[in-house]
Amino acid sequence: MNETATQLTAPLRARAEIDLGALRANVRALRALSPGAAVMAVVKADAYGHGAVPCARAAVEGGATWLGTATPQEALDLRARAGLPDGVRIMCWLWTPGGPWREAIEADLDVSVSGMWALEEVTDAARAVGLPARVQLKADTGLGRSGCQPGDDWVELVDAALRAESDGLLRITGLWSHLACADEPGHPSIDAQLVLFREMVAYAEERGVRAEVRHIANSPATLTRSDAHFDLVRTGIAVYGISPSPEVGSSADFGLRPVMSLKASVALVKQVPGGHGVSYGHHYVTPGVTTLGLIPVGYADGIPRHASGTGPVLVGGKWRTVAGRVAMDQFVVDLGGDELEAGAEAILFGAGDHGEPTAEDWAQAAGTIAYEIVTRIGTRVPRVYVNEVVGEGGPGVGPEVVPEIIPGYEGDDVAQGSDVKRSGT
Ligand SMILES: *Cc1c(COP(=O)(O)O)cnc(C)c1O
Repeated sequence: MNETATQLTAPLRARAEIDLGALRANVRALRALSPGAAVMAVVKADAYGHGAVPCARAAVEGGATWLGTATPQEALDLRARAGLPDGVRIMCWLWTPGGPWREAIEADLDVSVSGMWALEEVTDAARAVGLPARVQLKADTGLGRSGCQPGDDWVELVDAALRAESDGLLRITGLWSHLACADEPGHPSIDAQLVLFREMVAYAEERGVRAEVRHIANSPATLTRSDAHFDLVRTGIAVYGISPSPEVGSSADFGLRPVMSLKASVALVKQVPGGHGVSYGHHYVTPGVTTLGLIPVGYADGIPRHASGTGPVLVGGKWRTVAGRVAMDQFVVDLGGDELEAGAEAILFGAGDHGEPTAEDWAQAAGTIAYEIVTRIGTRVPRVYVNEVVGEGGPGVGPEVVPEIIPGYEGDDVAQGSDVKRSGT
């Protein structure tokens, strides 16, 4: 459920503004950081909560030539709905037995194969469809998750894939792997994985594999390890302008700008006496006479309950802290006596350069990572796209071009000089 269908002309309870100009600029920045490699924008999980179709298009406009998803269904949806230019490659890697291999071949997806069961299913599908599959062989170089183990397993998989290739059933388009600890620069496993990756690639190439792309770098490795870029970098979180971890650096260090801003309309402001318990369990008690502001988003909207008592919100020009528990649909902040109007804007997080907290601040408050903060924002929160048109937006673009939602706004009008459109995501 979302509120776009019923509330097109009303001010919104809450919204996630998605700055597509910032997203395009982030992809350009990542291209500049990895000059020898192509960029894959990872748009799994509805583009980390930002909206897969608009973000995929904007990433391509910014220069990404590949898109990556986890599930085949995500990749098939993009191919069907995103209207991408010819030649944009889409890769998906999280397959389970009986998956939609035929549909994937017909949709010209690149599919990942980590083991013999998958190779058998994809070659059966290719035979049935009468078209070769684009197959990327995945090596487990130490993550201990998906991927083919080095040694006998890799030998068997590579040799079987080469036989299927010579039978015309597939093209081996890629050799790839994934890093375990790239968000901890200097972690010894990074070098060890790179050494093993080179060995596993070398074995495949000696046997005759001629892959278009070899790749292992996620966002943190793209930002910190140019020796891991190979032919393609698979960037997710950096595309959305968020640093993978504080150890890697801040997003600004890399010229990246957060794409999502989460805003809500204060639902109620009221004065209460001292000693007043606030929200379920009364884990916050007002220290004296004060004003409380009701923020109408809760854990059903993806606000972490673990941020009870800690999450930061910009309201009335100051940072406030979640007072007491985050409930399903709402939480409260102590406004310290400030008399704000209901309807005042509350910014939970945004780009951070105009005084508001960031998704990384929320991650710290909730004891998690910023990936989870943006990805969990629920479907009840409408995504509002700004700077959709190529040429607008980019680094340094501040909220002055981010439009307020004007009551009575309808359809295609340009709001305050910037294009804005509500989406049903
Ligand atoms: C999610 C994912 C990525 C992107 O990771 P980021 O840290 O967000 O850049 C890259 N590769 C694989 C296999 C993934 O699952």
